Amino acid sequence: MNMTPPQTSLSMPDPKRAVLRSTFGFPDFRPGQETVIDTLLAGQHVLTVMPTGSGKSLCYQVPALVTGGLTIVVSPLVALMQDQVAALKLAGVAAETINSSRSRAENVAAWRRVAAGETRLLYMAPERLMTDRMLVALAKRNLRLIAVDEAHCISQWGPAFRPEYEALSRLREQFPGIPIAALTATADAVTREDIANRLFGMRVQTVVLGFDRPNIRLSVAQKTSWKTQMLTFLERHQDASGIVYCLSRRKTEEVASLLANQGFMAFPYHAGMDQQDREDHQNRFMTEPGVIIVATIAFGMGIDKSDLRFVLHVDLPATIEAYYQEIGRAGRDGAPAEAHMIYGLSDIRMRRKFIEDEEAGLERMRREHKRLDALIAYCEAPECRRRSLLSYFGEATKACGNCDVCIDPVEITDGTVFGRKVAKAIHGSGQRFGPAYIIDILRGARTARIQNTGHDELTVFGVGADLSKPEWQSIIRQLVASGFLSFDIEGYGGLKFTPRGQDLLNGKEEFRYRPDRRSSKPPRPERRSDSVSEAETGVDAGLLTALRELRLEIARERKVPAYLVFSDRSLIDMARYRPLDQEAFSRIHGVGAVKLQDFADSFITAIAAHEA
Ligand code: ADP
Ligand code: ZN
Repeated sequence: MNMTPPQTSLSMPDPKRAVLRSTFGFPDFRPGQETVIDTLLAGQHVLTVMPTGSGKSLCYQVPALVTGGLTIVVSPLVALMQDQVAALKLAGVAAETINSSRSRAENVAAWRRVAAGETRLLYMAPERLMTDRMLVALAKRNLRLIAVDEAHCISQWGPAFRPEYEALSRLREQFPGIPIAALTATADAVTREDIANRLFGMRVQTVVLGFDRPNIRLSVAQKTSWKTQMLTFLERHQDASGIVYCLSRRKTEEVASLLANQGFMAFPYHAGMDQQDREDHQNRFMTEPGVIIVATIAFGMGIDKSDLRFVLHVDLPATIEAYYQEIGRAGRDGAPAEAHMIYGLSDIRMRRKFIEDEEAGLERMRREHKRLDALIAYCEAPECRRRSLLSYFGEATKACGNCDVCIDPVEITDGTVFGRKVAKAIHGSGQRFGPAYIIDILRGARTARIQNTGHDELTVFGVGADLSKPEWQSIIRQLVASGFLSFDIEGYGGLKFTPRGQDLLNGKEEFRYRPDRRSSKPPRPERRSDSVSEAETGVDAGLLTALRELRLEIARERKVPAYLVFSDRSLIDMARYRPLDQEAFSRIHGVGAVKLQDFADSFITAIAAHEA
């Protein structure tokens, strides 16, 4: 017997709802979308801050189709534009992109269609839009709406400032009366204000959606032996899809092959890879179950896969914004997911060095260091992680019960005695050495180097033999994190005192710290995350596989990534409701009029064949 998908109630003839259903095949708007759409349709500017995956694109795509005419979409990345345009075309929307990766002939042809008034949405990078020639040409078109995606790129306070975005502040004067939508997922209060100021001269309505993702369990552990820690973590997530984030390209390759050797389906992804391989890996990740992507930050913007069960950071991310965005890719289906980070002192040093090496001017450098401080504070937080994360975005919340600190509260104890020992060892050896060496002094290791320097003569030599190496590492990390010590980045990277550290040395300051847990394992979720994604339970796996194969075939034919043909969610819906006629098929999630026309027959045939 076939079940029928839930009927959507009959509603007033509302043009935006009609577009939502007939073009995109979705029954309802998600939180925030309607407000943004209504504001734009009323001719007003809007700045919206919504978490990744909450459906920002629809906020301008729907009004673009309702108002007709031309909508310009500004986007920073070519790959993002290509994907969006391909997705819109599959839904039957006249969308174009003019960008540097396409041939001149292709770009000219696209412009002809725009000029002929055929195009509804035109995607461009800011530097192409803001040329005089383009602006003049656009002034003659029936321009109705402008959308600025990844709007935080305009803010110098933001983590991803792009100079090309600066010119966009002229938009509102260039096109008076045209509503502008600015969209971003990553804006703290300061960045938000900066965007509002630069793009809109503060005259804008702001729509901010909550940042909490309560189904994602948060945890951070001290890095001891990261490979073992990583494998222990992944073993709890057998057969689940997820992302492992690493700092360097080389490391992604190393980790991916390590995981492959351990029997995981894991592929690297980074900006230095051959484009074909990259697309290939992304495609497998998007369309096959249980694939792990090992990536640098290059992976993720625009990734839309709802059933990721984990995001694992084996290195410290760049900022809290980046971290939030990266972990936000997990658990978009609302089912339990885990975000775990393994971090150590070496990460702090590395990140500090990156900032110094960037040579971006003192003011920016100072700000970047402060940003990093905030992230380190999160990692060291003795209180609920979610609370500390959300408070960074200006949102207050109660302790969450779903992070490592809530589940296994940390005790803060007086560590002044230990801190002073470290300080004396650093002082005695002249503020020139790194943590490993300082720990050797404290633990009384008679290495050749220590004998050469004569540091085995120091009074602190061997006074810390009662603590293990990881315990000392943890103490030193926390001394750095709470501002007693810093790395001498310009010199040899040794540990040196801050004024606060001097005070500790001189007995004028105390040091409180949290002893690390003996085991660095993240707390086990009460319920083991299932190997199959929650959504897939109860659907016929054989049918689902057949539908996936069909999707792949169509994708190859049309030369688009498979996930743009139909999302997994749509395929699961098909396998669940097994529609056998057009009418039933039209009620499947994500089936609009054009996809119905183009794809219903093939999928219905496949479903019927399976039923037979
Ligand atoms: P963001 O830009 O906020 O990260 P996207 O615009 O890429 O998110 O949307 C994420 C996913 O959610 C897309 O697959 C999109 O089709 C889907 N989506 C957006 N709005 C709705 C809706 N109202 N109902 C169902 N799915 C939606
Ligand atoms: Zn918590």
